[in-house]
Amino acid sequence: MNSFDVAIIGAGAAGASTAFHLAKEGVKVILVEKNSDFIVKPCSGGMAASVQHLFPFSLEPVVDEIIKKVKFTWCLSDQVNADLSSSSPFWIVKREKLDKFISIKAKEQGADFLTSFEVKQIVKRKTKWVITAKDTRAIQARCVVIADGSNSSWPNEFGLGPKNLHYASTTSVRLEGRGLLEEGTSIFDFGLVHHGFAWAFPMQNSVSVGVGTFIGDHAVESKEVLNQLLPSLGFSQEAGARKNSNLRVWNGHSQLHTDQMVVVGDAASLCDPFLAEGLRPSIMSGCEAAIHINSWLQGHSKDLSGYTKAMKTKWGNSMAWGRRISQVFYRFPKIGYQLGIKRPTAPKRIAQILSGKMGYEDIAQRVIKRLLLQRSN
Ligand SMILES: Cc1cc2nc3c(=O)[nH]c(=O)nc-3n(C[C@H](O)[C@H](O)[C@H](O)COP(=O)(O)OP(=O)(O)OC[C@H]3O[C@@H](n4cnc5c(N)ncnc54)[C@H](O)[C@@H]3O)c2cc1C
Repeated sequence: MNSFDVAIIGAGAAGASTAFHLAKEGVKVILVEKNSDFIVKPCSGGMAASVQHLFPFSLEPVVDEIIKKVKFTWCLSDQVNADLSSSSPFWIVKREKLDKFISIKAKEQGADFLTSFEVKQIVKRKTKWVITAKDTRAIQARCVVIADGSNSSWPNEFGLGPKNLHYASTTSVRLEGRGLLEEGTSIFDFGLVHHGFAWAFPMQNSVSVGVGTFIGDHAVESKEVLNQLLPSLGFSQEAGARKNSNLRVWNGHSQLHTDQMVVVGDAASLCDPFLAEGLRPSIMSGCEAAIHINSWLQGHSKDLSGYTKAMKTKWGNSMAWGRRISQVFYRFPKIGYQLGIKRPTAPKRIAQILSGKMGYEDIAQRVIKRLLLQRSN
């Protein structure tokens, strides 16, 4: 049985990023993926350009579009625009290209990569994990990184991530052609969807449309929403194939490591519960996991707890506010739209959140300061 320092389960944004950063440090790492190739994922690919600083190579080859304007609407009207042209770049990437690109970079650094390897069992034998695939192939490693996305069962089995999982219910559609969507423009509509929002992002020769509901346990009722949204974008109501999926979102601070194991990306419930931003935390968690695993392998730290702490500080504290904002906003979206999105400074702030320049924590602190000032006047 082949033996590695680290085995990573799932070659999405989180797993591939972890593999790259570990391999770069000379760690003997293997990345395993259940699919035989990189597939189209139900992801609209909106990504803060600030993730670039997490890689020593340029991500430009996989950027389909640079977003310069974000349009917010309520039931397709009452429009507010955020201009991103000067300061806060927000990119659109196709996931099948991004995941492949980072995985290839990991291979170039020396990572092993196995496709069609669907992990069925992970068990500890003395000091090593034995990871067995559906087809009975097996590998062993000192450390395992769980990176297999929103449907992962391993966090529950190994006591990782939040006790109560929370899911956003989504429908995604990829449309051929650009319809009426202007170049460099993304649309967010907060009025069409009960407890959520609908969005349209431009991609090369296509448009990615999504509908998501963020509170409650109901499956999103996307048909009615798409019947209104698609014609407004210049497509027929029936255009494109629909894909429904549940997206695991942040639901409280939790432990992301255990003995010789960490969880990253969607499997770790890191996705933003307000705007469904999951790529940045996936990549960020992959980079952080690599730093702390490497330090542990080198004997510089006694365990992997530094990873949980780093993710709490760098991501979780902002998400705690994002979750509170989401719960209030999506319960009273009309008021939220009028008082939140339509505030003169709000579009700029949302653009700063999407571009990674500001967290929900900063927004909350500004609001609290404003309220305190109002009280003292
Ligand atoms: C409709 C929709 C739209 C979205 N739009 C955006 C957006 O615009 N911007 C954004 O930032 N986020 C978006 N997200 C969220 C984003 O897609 C996720 O947060 C991101 O994909 C998480 O990456 P990951 O690597 O953790 O998981 P994944 O991308 O799901 O990767 C997990 C990998 O593990 C593999 N795997 C699964 N099980 C096994 C197994 N047993 N053995 C081996 N391999 C396995 C899978 O095949 C997959 O390749 C969206 C999500 C949805 C549902």
